[in-house]
Amino acid sequence: MARYNQSVCRLCRRENLKLYLKGERCYSDKCAIDRRSYPPGQHGQGRVKFSNYGLQLREKQRVKRMYGLLEKQFRNFFERAEKMKGITGTNLLLLLERRLDNLVYRLGFANSRSEARQLVRHSHFLVDRKKVSIPSYLVKVGGVIELREKSRKIARIGEALEGVARRGIPSWLELEKDQFRGRLVSLPAREDLTMPIKEQLIVELYSK
Ligand code: SF4
Repeated sequence: MARYNQSVCRLCRRENLKLYLKGERCYSDKCAIDRRSYPPGQHGQGRVKFSNYGLQLREKQRVKRMYGLLEKQFRNFFERAEKMKGITGTNLLLLLERRLDNLVYRLGFANSRSEARQLVRHSHFLVDRKKVSIPSYLVKVGGVIELREKSRKIARIGEALEGVARRGIPSWLELEKDQFRGRLVSLPAREDLTMPIKEQLIVELYSK
């Protein structure tokens, strides 16, 4: 599988947006985008005027990088969103939000989505009491995500859970921290997703 091996902070700087890819560091004054809020590279501080296509492409890259997906995986999600009833852009975001790795991150079991993905792959979680090790697994509304008994002593999960109060749990999720358990209570409304995303641009890009 293709891998991105450079500093992930470059991705935030490229997108001019905090993508929260580095856990605790993202909340500290060491955050690269707070220190250097211009794109990386030799010409990063030059003026850039985007074409329509450029704007659409950047928006797609932002969301793709935020959720840590490769192009093909992202495209598959888009095609699935297109087949659903309702607004394609919103459907896309809702599908991405239902991914197991995203929910593990949102519930505070991990400090970043990439850490959450690794934990899921290593089979540390149960969904509705069944072992699931597929990060892209889509959790249904009402689904319960639980850290397995044998994984509850893992220090980094404990540390991530300690930091959950500062980050906050979204209103559509419920966490029983003492039970190492969380639930997808409902799907978020579009206005609940506060990241500055213009999903319509992604729809326009893929509809060409
Ligand atoms: Fe992005 Fe986090 Fe790096 Fe800041 S510290 S630039 S939010 S990955």
